[in-house]
Amino acid sequence: SSGSDDNDVVIIGGGPGGYVAAIKAAQLGLKTTCIEKRGTLGGTCLNVGCIPSKALLHSSHMFHEAQHSFAHHGVKVSNVEVDLPAMMGQKDKAVANLTKGIEGLFKKNKVTYVKGYGKFISPNEVSVDTIDGGNTVVKGKNIIVATGSDVKSLPGITIDEEKIVSSTGALSLKQIPKKLIVIGAGYIGLEMGSVWARLGSEVTVVEFAPDIVPTMDSEIRRQFQRSLEKQKMKFMLKTKVVGVDSSGDGVKLTVEPAAGGDQTILEADVVLVSAGRNPFTAGLELDKIGVETDKGGRILVNEKFESNVKGVFAIGDVIPGPMLAHKAEEDGVACVEFIAGKHGHVNYDLVPGVVYTHPEVASVGKTEDQVKASGVQYRVGKFPFMANSRAKAIDDAEGLVKIIADKETDKILGVHIMAPNAGELIHEAVLAINYEASSEDIARVCHAHPTMSEALKEAAMATHDKPIHI
Ligand code: FAD
Repeated sequence: SSGSDDNDVVIIGGGPGGYVAAIKAAQLGLKTTCIEKRGTLGGTCLNVGCIPSKALLHSSHMFHEAQHSFAHHGVKVSNVEVDLPAMMGQKDKAVANLTKGIEGLFKKNKVTYVKGYGKFISPNEVSVDTIDGGNTVVKGKNIIVATGSDVKSLPGITIDEEKIVSSTGALSLKQIPKKLIVIGAGYIGLEMGSVWARLGSEVTVVEFAPDIVPTMDSEIRRQFQRSLEKQKMKFMLKTKVVGVDSSGDGVKLTVEPAAGGDQTILEADVVLVSAGRNPFTAGLELDKIGVETDKGGRILVNEKFESNVKGVFAIGDVIPGPMLAHKAEEDGVACVEFIAGKHGHVNYDLVPGVVYTHPEVASVGKTEDQVKASGVQYRVGKFPFMANSRAKAIDDAEGLVKIIADKETDKILGVHIMAPNAGELIHEAVLAINYEASSEDIARVCHAHPTMSEALKEAAMATHDKPIHI
């Protein structure tokens, strides 16, 4: 036994949900152990998700700027080349530093860290096959399952992480593929497609649905798709993948219209399968203790994140809700607050969503279609970055801010931003909606000039009155 018989909280999984829950629990004075099988902390997000993808998005953007924008700004460079191993090296270093940083935070907060694969023996005992080949039993009054999610494959497609890759393989390709096909036009597919398109790949995105990123406001989505097309990404929407052959040099992908019809064969060097993610509970032996899951395998929890088994909780990608790192973190904090006898709350309606392409697309609250469907009378205020002085000064003025507010009360219902730094700009809107602000509240707050944030103020003016600069 690990000698931690008297844990208040045991957490299985050290991703953004699990590690944040562990630190918060320790801060609340609970004796805490976190079990992680990967060998490093940070989960999908730090190791093979958010962080490495943002590292490559930034590096590839710099290359693209050097090729296409520097001259325009009067910066002369010649022979701009990609050094892929160096680019991958910077990404790997960022990941390694951050995962070690969490180990440091565990030590600082006195969280016990057990490296190994956990499975339930009983609702308060976890057996861990440790990475060094041993076994230990960790006991706790409360156990939080934070085992996250894993790549979803498609029927008949075997991911080899060389020619047919998941996002994990797409983050570590050894060569720039001449042709890359991305299956699935969600945010992960578009982000990874952008990286390789900037580095020189011909990228085709194949999507079964009629639209890219289904959760996006449809007006913003149309502009976003046009922007990606200008960046030479091709889209085949309403298209179904029916077969894959990777026996030759490259990969041959057979597709047909979603509604049925003639088949076409697409050729590529690499195919990225980014058709979604599944909750990961393999090997946990949830059935042994009777934990209920939904049809998709997600653990069902109440508003305190407790499953149907007393003392067993679940958070993050393994439960229903948006599969995002910041949502997992919020779950983690609220869950341990409940365990500590306090109150916790996560408002899933106010989880911002960001696509980290260029421009970025960020949103919070309802889309216009959702507001329309709800029957509420509303007003829309928009402001394009073409009329924003900072965006013009730096010659990066594609995109807009769109605010949807209740017609009667002016309460903000949804904000959608397409801009180079939309992922940063959105938080003013998250805060505003959280405090039930009106568009006039945002419009009457002094915003520094010249900033992109002024576009939010002007869109707020446009919602209930008139903007100044257009
Ligand atoms: P995970 O991060 O999946 O962590 C679960 C951990 O549990 C894993 O480390 C796993 O090894 C461990 N584990 C599982 N079972 C066991 C077991 N039985 N015993 C011990 N350990 C176990 N989200 C964003 O918000 N922003 C982004 O920009 C973003 N980009 C992404 C890009 C990519 C390419 C991908 C794939 C995902 C991205 N995500 C992003 C999603 C984000 O990574 C997840 O939402 C987040 O990691 C979920 O956190 P989690 O703690 O629930 O699970």
